[in-house]
Amino acid sequence: MDVRVPQRQCVACKARKEKSDLFRIIKQNDTPLFCTNGHAQGRSVYFCKDKSCIMAGKKKNLASKSLKMHVEAAVYDQMIEAL
Ligand SMILES: [Zn+2]
Repeated sequence: MDVRVPQRQCVACKARKEKSDLFRIIKQNDTPLFCTNGHAQGRSVYFCKDKSCIMAGKKKNLASKSLKMHVEAAVYDQMIEAL
């Protein structure tokens, strides 16, 4: 396995991908944010840049489970809009 590129796992389909192929929701100051800054530090959850993964995540609110905090539906909508 090529270890040079760090991979992250989509919480919806469990696929492992490069970070550039995933959207990220990051917990910052107790607020979940759709993160477009790859260098931000914090607890994060990743989704494929794929509507089916984001919609599955929204339906079950998978980001809330991973981040252990409430994630508004609007955060998922931001990802869908960014597709
Ligand atoms: Zn996925």
